Amino acid sequence: MFEKGISEEEVRTAIASGMTAAEYPDDHLYPSRLVLATGSRSFLVVIAEDTTTETCLIVTVYTLDLDLENKETIMNCVICKTGEMAPGYVTVTLARSGTVVIVKEVPGDVCQDCGEYYLDEPVAEKIYAQAEEAVKRNAEVEILRYVAYQS
Ligand SMILES: [Zn+2]
Repeated sequence: MFEKGISEEEVRTAIASGMTAAEYPDDHLYPSRLVLATGSRSFLVVIAEDTTTETCLIVTVYTLDLDLENKETIMNCVICKTGEMAPGYVTVTLARSGTVVIVKEVPGDVCQDCGEYYLDEPVAEKIYAQAEEAVKRNAEVEILRYVAYQS
């Protein structure tokens, strides 16, 4: 655990004051539990307690810093770098072969700062399919509502 930069003291404090996230009373060796430390740093400790000898074994320590960092990069807008992304609905405009297709109420992640949006692959594919239909009908301008499931 020490190469992860968490001191024995921090682990002890976590066990004493941390929140028990999960308990495994039937764990093969000793009853064990997962403790979430919520001090200056967040990490998880799996401990096994031998109640007969009052021995506490530290099974493993997980740091959460890395995961949180990854989430940050995913949640920030790549255009303005500072905006936070939140689920919302957007209007997508597509133009092709003289046809303009406007698709309303498309679910996506929307930047709260600059309004840039990101669509999931299945959603984007569905929009392209809907737009393709409009092109086939030789429509000049078509305003559609996003259809999540095709009948
Ligand atoms: Zn943005």
